[in-house]
Amino acid sequence: MRVLFALLFLPYCWAMWPQSWIVGMACGKAAQLYYPECVYGDYACICGSDQIKATVEDCINRATKMNSTDMGSAWGRFSLMYCTLNGQEDLVGDLLTIAKIKPQRVVSDESFERAYEAEVHLLSQKDVSVRYSLSLYVYWLGIAVIAAIWRFMSKLAVFLVGPHSMLQRRHSRYYRWLQRRFFWPALFGQRHMVRFQFKWITMSLASRFETVVILVFFLLCLIFMLTPYTFMDDDPFFETRWKEMMRFSSDRSGIMGTILIPLFVLFGMRNNILIWATGWSYQRFNVFHRAIARISYTLLIVHSVTKHIFSASYHASLVKYFYPTLLYRYGVAAMFLMAIMIGSAMVRNRFYGIFHFLHITCGFAGLMCSVYHLNHIGYKEPLYIAFAIWAADWFLRLARVTIFNFRTVFPPLAGSHRSSYASVNVYNGEIARLSIRLPVKWPFYPGQYVYLYPHRYWFINGHPFSVVGATPNGDGMILLVRARNGMTKELCKSLIDRGCSETTPVTIPVVVEGPYGVSAPVFNYDEGLLIAGGIGITGILGYVERMVRDNAVKHHKHIHVIWIAHSRKLFAIARDIILRLKESGSVEISLYTKAERGQNLLRFPEQAGVASGENVVVDYEPTQSASTSQRVSRHGSRDTEWCDQYNSRNHSQSEFDNSSYMKSVSPDDTLVYERENPFASSEVLSSRLDELEKAGLDDSRSDDTQGNYPKKDCFETSSESLSTEKSDDLDELIIESRIDLANTVRTFFNQSKGSVCVAACGPPGMMDTISAAVCKYMEHVEYGEVHYYEEAFSW
Ligand SMILES: Cc1cc2nc3c(=O)[nH]c(=O)nc-3n(C[C@H](O)[C@H](O)[C@H](O)COP(=O)(O)OP(=O)(O)OC[C@H]3O[C@@H](n4cnc5c(N)ncnc54)[C@H](O)[C@@H]3O)c2cc1C
Repeated sequence: MRVLFALLFLPYCWAMWPQSWIVGMACGKAAQLYYPECVYGDYACICGSDQIKATVEDCINRATKMNSTDMGSAWGRFSLMYCTLNGQEDLVGDLLTIAKIKPQRVVSDESFERAYEAEVHLLSQKDVSVRYSLSLYVYWLGIAVIAAIWRFMSKLAVFLVGPHSMLQRRHSRYYRWLQRRFFWPALFGQRHMVRFQFKWITMSLASRFETVVILVFFLLCLIFMLTPYTFMDDDPFFETRWKEMMRFSSDRSGIMGTILIPLFVLFGMRNNILIWATGWSYQRFNVFHRAIARISYTLLIVHSVTKHIFSASYHASLVKYFYPTLLYRYGVAAMFLMAIMIGSAMVRNRFYGIFHFLHITCGFAGLMCSVYHLNHIGYKEPLYIAFAIWAADWFLRLARVTIFNFRTVFPPLAGSHRSSYASVNVYNGEIARLSIRLPVKWPFYPGQYVYLYPHRYWFINGHPFSVVGATPNGDGMILLVRARNGMTKELCKSLIDRGCSETTPVTIPVVVEGPYGVSAPVFNYDEGLLIAGGIGITGILGYVERMVRDNAVKHHKHIHVIWIAHSRKLFAIARDIILRLKESGSVEISLYTKAERGQNLLRFPEQAGVASGENVVVDYEPTQSASTSQRVSRHGSRDTEWCDQYNSRNHSQSEFDNSSYMKSVSPDDTLVYERENPFASSEVLSSRLDELEKAGLDDSRSDDTQGNYPKKDCFETSSESLSTEKSDDLDELIIESRIDLANTVRTFFNQSKGSVCVAACGPPGMMDTISAAVCKYMEHVEYGEVHYYEEAFSW
């Protein structure tokens, strides 16, 4: 413990500046004052003048009292900082020659002492900056430790007392207030997952808790930047306080910005030990990763600007003396590369591949340039630590891939191969269901997700997918992959090309990386309301199966699973699991979908916040935000060749997409409306529907107002196919109606008889509605704790 404590606080107490370095710098600076003919920054003048060098040598000689080692070290420091780093000749070998020259001007003892004192003062300011930076680590570590302790104490309590008795106690009203007002809500209103969009640039607001944590961190950085700079009276190096302040603030911002680098690198890694300790999602760490990176970069901008102002204050030409130095050039290159690395995040949602490539290459190159920038200056250790964290993450990723996907020496599990493969079915041309078989045993737990590399050696860009559960015989895992624009679309296309369909499976080699993800304690609660939207069912099913399995032993009082989908056809992808759950008799299942075409032919263009004539549909799929709702023209840009091919083969259309869905009242209309009117009751919603129906927003009208979307593309709806294809065995669970989510949450809470957990996974609009409803109605739960857990597919 003591050793740990000492290691942690060592940097606070111990600054390692060799005395000989201080002497070398003090003599250099003091000598410079005796030669005003060499202006600040003109290192060619200083390093080329034998007289100046002789003065410095004489000063060092007297200060170090002839100790040859110290003298060599001091001279080496002077040579490095004044000459080598500034593109001049190295002076180390010249010492003996220079020692023979008698200097005409000699640094007085008093001048040397002032210079020495000033140099110590300058270095002490740097040490203060290191301490402040480490305090920022203490801040993050403190938060993580509190979260980890809280998590492990809860686990321990549940283990010792049992979940039932433990969770049946209501949290104190203060803690509930914190949950309602601080932990779960969006920063303002209810917009958290739904992204703001400006052309291709999208961004989302962090939750209130995350924002507060980031804000405090930002304030700490601001405070540390602004206080306190202690100035030295009659500092021989800085004629004015302004110069002195510019120099100190430049050092402080540079040091703080650099020391924060390992922290944001750690928070961006998949194998971050803090994820496991705190139980927070990768998404949350990603939010912190971005915030710390931006603040660190801002500090580095402050460093660059103040350095320029400081250098310019000596009225020496920056172009002549400052810009040509390698130190400067590497610094500029690092700043430029880091700007691309951070800026690329703006197009992350739209062009993930480009973002990924730029982020990694520019991040790596930026760190390398920073190492060269700091060569001989110091403070390179944080950069080495950042590289080490990065390398460790890659090592662990590779290790996971190798361990779980390949068996070369030992035989694979009975019935599987030496490497992983998947048996795939494609549903409706858009959702691939992969039953993956690995050569080793896979430990499945709910909340787990893996990165899928469908092309065996395509290690660069894996995509995350939730593990739905184990295969029926328990020897593999199931993934459901919805085709979007990039890899997923390519995958479905190539499978269809190979004749894969709902009834004809195709076997492909795959590689999975994982498992990642932390299991939320959903199954500890007496009652569970689990809501999924579209493909978001993948994040929910694992929990429901576990709850059903536990039910026999623990007697959950009420489990209600709600799955809302564009089309009833979507339910087919998990039909076996749903039927299994239904047969267990311990779960209430409601499958909400739109009415069949022709029953309710209207939609709410104005509620989606668009001008008439512009068509917006809220995509029902988790990674799509409402603001990134697809303009209809986007459908036209789909790969029509593929669609034609698929349609001609299957004589049907993609119903999991939007265009077929635009003319009907549907759960996604509900989402749009609920987002605008979060707590409208179902009556309000239905009266709104009636109003619109009366206003004549019928089928043809909506076609007119929708303007330019293609009349016929591969996603166009054929009414026959809609009405004929039914998932018979699921029929009694299907409700062709809108769902008022806020009301559903409220009713569930009102009727609860024990502790309650709400878990949700779905499109951003839906998630925001649910979290707002949970916060609003949680006080209605009388008999135990309330927990809210959300799985986001949009990092
Ligand atoms: C934890 C998690 C679990 C998920 N589970 C499922 C699931 O079970 N089924 C399912 O169909 N989808 C799931 N998704 C969404 C899925 O990862 C994306 O739809 C898929 O990566 C899209 O890839 P694309 O190149 O085809 O589409 P694109 O249109 O090119 O990308 C769409 C969006 O997907 C996201 N994305 C793409 N690649 C990555 C990546 N490597 N890492 C993080 N985000 C990425 C980006 O936000 C991007 O904007 C999950 C996402 C996350 C984060």
